[in-house]
Amino acid sequence: MDIYNSDLHIHSPHSIAVSKSLNLDTMVQTCKKKGLNILGTGDILQPEWLKYMESNLDKDEDAAFKYKDIYFILQTEIEDQESIHQVVFFPDFNSVREIQKKLNPYSKNILDEWGGRPRVNLSPAELVDIVADSGGLIGPAHAFTPFKAIFRQNKFKTLKECYQDAIKKVTFIELGLSANTDLADRLSCLKDVTFLSNSDAHSQNPRSLGREFNKFDIDCPSFEEIQLALERKNNRKITLNLGLSPMLGKYYNMFCHKCRRRVLFKKVKKKIDTIFTQYSISENFIIFYTNDPAKAKENYIDQTAKDKMICPACQEKLKKNFKIKLGVSERIDVISTYDKPQHPDHRPPYINAIPLIDIIRSVRGIKSTSSKTVLNFYDKIIKELAPEFEILIDTPINQIENFDKNLASVIKAFRNSEIDYTPGGGGIYGQIKIDL
Ligand SMILES: [Zn+2]
Ligand SMILES: [Zn+2]
Repeated sequence: MDIYNSDLHIHSPHSIAVSKSLNLDTMVQTCKKKGLNILGTGDILQPEWLKYMESNLDKDEDAAFKYKDIYFILQTEIEDQESIHQVVFFPDFNSVREIQKKLNPYSKNILDEWGGRPRVNLSPAELVDIVADSGGLIGPAHAFTPFKAIFRQNKFKTLKECYQDAIKKVTFIELGLSANTDLADRLSCLKDVTFLSNSDAHSQNPRSLGREFNKFDIDCPSFEEIQLALERKNNRKITLNLGLSPMLGKYYNMFCHKCRRRVLFKKVKKKIDTIFTQYSISENFIIFYTNDPAKAKENYIDQTAKDKMICPACQEKLKKNFKIKLGVSERIDVISTYDKPQHPDHRPPYINAIPLIDIIRSVRGIKSTSSKTVLNFYDKIIKELAPEFEILIDTPINQIENFDKNLASVIKAFRNSEIDYTPGGGGIYGQIKIDL
């Protein structure tokens, strides 16, 4: 058996807001920099992307799809009639076409130029039946995000509620950028499913592609082996999930639906009698002052879950009422079975990571995500030291120190879970706080 680093959910230029330069060659380049071995194709039901993949992917002796030295799993994301996104994997091109044909009568955009992530007018259970009956694998994408996800506010609280009898055909869930294993294992209904941590990348930028991945322990990089690992059969398994530290995700913290400011609580000593009346508003945050932040937050989450909390910033500035929405962490507080994670025996470890590009940006004090200085430094360290995943996880700190002292100290702190974060929310990524 061998270990394959795998990112199994990406998109194509046929989904909105995806880089036009995302193609097999640029994907392969990034995979090599990161240390990725298997990648999802993204958007495989879209006719042009399907044609492109079919004419470029070769099958190796193990029946795994390959382009240059990188392996591919035929993959897409589908939105069902509950507006839930589902990740789908296909064994071969025949099953892609078969499922495309079966879904076409229920979809207005599956054959469109912009149908990369098609919407189908089918319930989650109906969609699962169609995919599974044609040999595909399916599970909820970014399961806890406040939009388009199975566990979002005012949607489902358990897998069973959503999939009903089709639940036995769902073997995995995708955690999403703002959740990790510690958060998800507070729900007892997830104890038997396998967790995937995938990037959902919209570009080949190494900051995006492979920012989350899974280590698969399998015999060869074929669909059949991936399926066995997801079902945890014949000793095939995922041995590690690595993903963004949840606070870096775009939806960790609760936020105003309109202005997207995140809601935080700050302890003050001065006695405050009335709850939620003392606050300050900045560009990105609403900060409530309280004598007991934990209790105030609990109370606030409780009211927000009932759609009762109004954004004070929008009230002041727009004279209108807009609701506060729960982020991933607060939604999990509301629907969780346990206060502390209860990991089942099969659950692999999870590493809360930071993309190397972002570590370099912080160390250099550069805000721009497309800075040439940052990208050149990134390429240099990868070339001289190791692929990104090795630098993040395995490369001895003294070797990184020889390259850059400040970078080494941040990587050391992150490996020891000593990094402080400003939590993301409302579509804005979180940030690491470092003082060098
Ligand atoms: Zn999605
Ligand atoms: Zn607002």
